[in-house]
Amino acid sequence: MKEVMANSNYVIDIGPLPSLKVEGSDARFPVARIYCVGRNYADHAREMGHDPDREPPFFFMKAANSVVESGSTIAYPVGTKDVHHEIEMVVAIGKGGKNIPVEKALEHVWGYAVGLDMTRRDIQGEAKKLGRPWEMGKSFDESAPVSALRPVSAVGHPAKGAIWLKVNGEVKQQGDLAMQIWSVPEQINYLSNLITLQPGDLIFSGTPAGVGPVKAGDKLQGHVDGVGELLVNYKA
Ligand code: MN
Repeated sequence: MKEVMANSNYVIDIGPLPSLKVEGSDARFPVARIYCVGRNYADHAREMGHDPDREPPFFFMKAANSVVESGSTIAYPVGTKDVHHEIEMVVAIGKGGKNIPVEKALEHVWGYAVGLDMTRRDIQGEAKKLGRPWEMGKSFDESAPVSALRPVSAVGHPAKGAIWLKVNGEVKQQGDLAMQIWSVPEQINYLSNLITLQPGDLIFSGTPAGVGPVKAGDKLQGHVDGVGELLVNYKA
């Protein structure tokens, strides 16, 4: 690490790259960028007041340094009185590319994790109303808790299986990966037609219905069958 610093030609030190734990390994997965798919489960699209049959997929971003490790205790975010949980499967891109066809898309995936797309819903709602960008509702400190990444060699490519979130032991969100409107290969295809995907990019693949507020002191437990568990505590 010291040598890297000594050889670098940067005028300031911004610290290490954001990264994720890799299950069963000391090595880490560096996070380049975070893309999130909006309204990718019909029941969630409906609860947000939209018709799931009429929309192509759309994407927004979170800053890479929004990631937080499973097991962390985090502060209730500033600037909001209505932080919502959105449990999602996270897709980690190992190989970049553009215009990636659906049938080749899974070759670009390094692994999968369980994530939370934490959302300042009041700020997002105001942005929607005013036709402003969503960023301040979606991309903020510690807004992307993510479990240890499980490599494809261990998990395969999950396309069905339970996804759920409990808050203080009570089930709040429950769905199945098979309910995704746009599959992971379709998400990769669509996104790579809009931007060049890079190694280290994460895709948050959407949340099932049941999103709702968290409060100080809440304990969140997320799960995706075969992919893993995510635990986050909000400071009391
Ligand atoms: Mn989301």
